[in-house]
Amino acid sequence: MNLQPSHLAFAAGTVAYMVIRAMFQRHGASGAKAHSRADARDRLLIVTVGLGQIGLPAVLMLTPWLDAAHYARPEALAWVGAVVMAAGLWLFWRSHADLGASWSVTLELNPNHRLVTQGVYRRIRHPMYASFFAMAIGQALLLNNWIAGGAALLAVGLLYAVRTPREERMMLESFGDEYRTYMRRTGGILPRATTS
Ligand code: SAH
Repeated sequence: MNLQPSHLAFAAGTVAYMVIRAMFQRHGASGAKAHSRADARDRLLIVTVGLGQIGLPAVLMLTPWLDAAHYARPEALAWVGAVVMAAGLWLFWRSHADLGASWSVTLELNPNHRLVTQGVYRRIRHPMYASFFAMAIGQALLLNNWIAGGAALLAVGLLYAVRTPREERMMLESFGDEYRTYMRRTGGILPRATTS
């Protein structure tokens, strides 16, 4: 057992993360798919992210196996981590709420898929992945362990690098100019700098 206060704060954030996901799982896309890229590669990415976000932190907290990878960090950084994680959870919740029935865990589109460009989707195209990055930064600061702390950041970086181009290709094939125009005025995970 390895339960420092910052580890418990991370565990509380992770429970909130799972509650938000469970709340929206019911409302998300279900039934027939118009378009699917839900292949083995995409599922492997999802499992990798789950291991980084939940699996390795659980190993850190419940076993001594990762103890050699501990590092010292100023206590104040744990508080910064808690705030960043809370901000990530807010964005995770809002992106689920704004996507509504257009959300799915893998890459797929419903027959009547609605393109969402409002709410947290107004200025960035990937607020949910942005929320993963924020939560992963929070994790690295809360879990002072090179392996369990950094795992989500690596996994989310991989997800973003591999999945986003495929996701955007799928959206372009289905929504054409509507998505092209949306891409021009938005950034990926950070708002696009406007010149006007
Ligand atoms: N990349 C987005 C969504 C992640 S969920 C984000 O980070 O917030 C993945 C699914 O969302 C994809 O399978 C796709 O069907 C859907 N999707 C992605 N962007 C969308 C948008 N702007 N409007 C509607 N659906 C979208």
